[in-house]
Amino acid sequence: LTNQRAYNFNAGPSALPLEVLEKAQQEIVNFQGAGMSIMEMSHRSANYEEVHNSAIARLRKLFSIPENYEVLFLQGGASLQFTMVPMNFLSEGQKASYVLTGSWSEKALKEAKLFGTPVEAASTKENKYRNIPALSEIGFNADDAYVHVTSNNTIYGTQWKEFPETGDVPLVADMSSDILSRPVDVSKFGIIYAGAQKNLGPSGVTVVIIRKDLLEKANTNIPTMLKYTTHADSNSLYNTPPTFGIYMLGEVLRWVEEKGGLEAIEKQNVEKAKVIYDVIDNSNGFFTGHATEDSRSLMNITFRVADEELEKQFLAEAKAAGFVGLNGHRSVGGCRASTYNAVPFEACQALANFMLDFQRKHQ
Ligand code: PLP
Repeated sequence: LTNQRAYNFNAGPSALPLEVLEKAQQEIVNFQGAGMSIMEMSHRSANYEEVHNSAIARLRKLFSIPENYEVLFLQGGASLQFTMVPMNFLSEGQKASYVLTGSWSEKALKEAKLFGTPVEAASTKENKYRNIPALSEIGFNADDAYVHVTSNNTIYGTQWKEFPETGDVPLVADMSSDILSRPVDVSKFGIIYAGAQKNLGPSGVTVVIIRKDLLEKANTNIPTMLKYTTHADSNSLYNTPPTFGIYMLGEVLRWVEEKGGLEAIEKQNVEKAKVIYDVIDNSNGFFTGHATEDSRSLMNITFRVADEELEKQFLAEAKAAGFVGLNGHRSVGGCRASTYNAVPFEACQALANFMLDFQRKHQ
């Protein structure tokens, strides 16, 4: 690849757009004539505030976030949201429904048990998390505090294609691994949260999109830093935010805009994933996909090579050929190609060609 860039299929942190990295490199010593980088400036300075507010405005515009939602930049990763959501919205004895579609949903459920009485609304664990449950299988209660889903399951390679209608019960989604990969109707959700390190920027920033009326109902007897209202009331500037990460996030959003927005990005993501899924599907069982076809993720393509020894060889040869990050998550093994927004089509095409060659040589 040009510019010594690897074919980066890491699951997270993952590839960032080359154009964004180059711009950041240019600005790192002297940001817009200030004689210092954005990292070295006060978070109360006019320069930084402009970066902060334009990142929020860009996200609002790109993701079509309605006026009655707050956009927050927090820290602690998506993992802290597993805790903050129930800490703010569940109380002892109160129910919430969790749809289990993988390890991240299990972790979210575990945290909710510390605050209330969450229940499993559906689970595909028995099917090794190969699929997303049918919408008709998802049971929730009218008195649930919320219903929680994981829109894309990074480890198993499955993705929701449509979301349940939950009426007056707020729908909460962990979108860490597919936010901004496609247009989403934000108005269907009470809360959307995502760690930045896949599609949004470097790790260290967590985006939370929360409907304003929920803020009024949140629990108040909890620590200041863990209240959504603290951050909503201060435009995510209650304390020092991760300024460099937010700057990078803003630049990634600008890049998505320049690419033509979410429709264009989605179209590209479909094409990128297709070249790899096609190799799997046409391999006569040499490669097998983990996810069932109707639940396949456009972001994380999980597959096995027919024979365990050959799989090891495949991963070793791929590594030697310059493909990075193809090992499956340590909890499930196998292979995984993460094809987030910043992974170029050429990288996916190169991987597809490599897979075809490998099959030809070893079948
Ligand atoms: N949720 C999903 C879907 C993920 O893929 C990850 C992985 O990073 C997490 C949550 C955990 O995020 P973080 O590392 O930001 O806490």
